Amino acid sequence: MEKITVRKARLAETIGQHVCLQGWIRTRRDSKGGFSFLEMNDGSSLANIQVIADQELPNYADEVKRLSAGCSVTVRGEIKQSGGKGQATELLASEVLVHGWADPESYPLQKKRHSFEKLREWAHLRPRTNSFGAVMRTRNQICRSIHDFFQEQEFLYVHTPIITTSDCEGAGEMFRVTTLDLDQVSRQAGQVDYACDFFDRPAFLTVSGQLEAEIFACSLGKAYTFGPTFRAENSNTSRHLAEFWMVEPEMAFCDLSGNMDLAEAFLKRVTGDVLDRCQEDMRFFMERIDNEVIDRLRRIVESDFLRISYTEAIDYLERSGEKFEFPVAWGADLQAEHERYLTEKKFQAPVIVYDYPRTIKPFYMKLSDDEKTVRAMDILVPGVGEIIGGSQREDRLDVVTARMQEQDLLPEDYWWYLDLRRYGTVPHSGFGLGLERLVQFVTGMTNIRDVIPFPRTPGNADF
Ligand code: ATP
Ligand code: MN
Repeated sequence: MEKITVRKARLAETIGQHVCLQGWIRTRRDSKGGFSFLEMNDGSSLANIQVIADQELPNYADEVKRLSAGCSVTVRGEIKQSGGKGQATELLASEVLVHGWADPESYPLQKKRHSFEKLREWAHLRPRTNSFGAVMRTRNQICRSIHDFFQEQEFLYVHTPIITTSDCEGAGEMFRVTTLDLDQVSRQAGQVDYACDFFDRPAFLTVSGQLEAEIFACSLGKAYTFGPTFRAENSNTSRHLAEFWMVEPEMAFCDLSGNMDLAEAFLKRVTGDVLDRCQEDMRFFMERIDNEVIDRLRRIVESDFLRISYTEAIDYLERSGEKFEFPVAWGADLQAEHERYLTEKKFQAPVIVYDYPRTIKPFYMKLSDDEKTVRAMDILVPGVGEIIGGSQREDRLDVVTARMQEQDLLPEDYWWYLDLRRYGTVPHSGFGLGLERLVQFVTGMTNIRDVIPFPRTPGNADF
């Protein structure tokens, strides 16, 4: 007897087949007619399959009638046409084998619906809920589309290191990697001797694979990284994690406008695929999480993204009449509230903001001819704010060296990065997209902790 998934068993084309299904019971309802309805789910779809278990089954009284939410079972039987609403098929059981019981007195996932906050405490059980299952299936589709998109465009998938001794952003929000005995170190007076440490120097978890991706773009043309990224920023927001997954394409012979084109095509492809292939889960998000989510995704696919310069963005913000917590002024970074105003209120669409002041952006972004701005771009989307940050990279040896010095970085620490400009330099560009922000945007989930299996945030790495 063939084992199939619940998703398959729900298709009318399986009617008449004798199959085996394995999964977990969601509910049991006993009928007066001497049989029970079992709702069973195996994670392959949001919807359950209805199993009809008759009293003629040898273990009906002893076992079937004791089944409750969370019990694991193997059911064999025939797929029948269903008279029930919302389902084409049901499974008439010839055998129900119980693998594991779940005491209804203590099993937390009973009929009652729990808040997302509560479910975070049960990271080992929440994948059994409808909402988390839907999020995980959608996340899976997004990852698949990410690879499909880049592979079809002949990008090379490169694995950049997770442990690094360079700090990509020149900022101090990195986790340290060390084998030094911290108890010893804290008792010693004076300087830590990194020569005794594992890598003979301070080492960190990466905040971005960009600098290494540039190496591959500048030798093999087009490359992308897709891996875990770590930021020790102490920000308890609904859009920041300490550990998240980042997609970073990098392209040789590409300027900022080519970069924006790629980013836009990329977001359109991923959202389009989700609309096509995750219809059941998307309908669930629309009904339960955010009733505008599907319309918003459709608009992404259908309409061009707006492109405005940072200077124009400041202008819109100054003339908005809004009361912002952080002041708006040319030269200051856009805060989340400013980004949200632009994409949610002013334009109600994705907005690409480009050409930011040089003083608020890292050394590697290409200096514009006006020398006041750099060729950076951020993509802002409703509900999330910044989802992508990217730039054309500075490809001139003298300019990038001066920009490092301007930001108190030592050019000798980046000797290999400078070599890329010394030998066969090319215009090149790339961007970084936070996977979880994209999953948030696509699903409408409001908290980033609910779109990753095991969220890491300040004070929280329990699971
Ligand atoms: P923000 O201003 O929102 O903190 P950022 O400017 O620090 O973002 P970048 O350094 O440009 O972000 O990183 C590229 C992308 O990585 C962002 O556009 C975002 O999608 C994602 N990202 C950045 N920090 C985090 C984080 N702590 N948790 C999840 N995703 C993040
Ligand atoms: Mn940040």
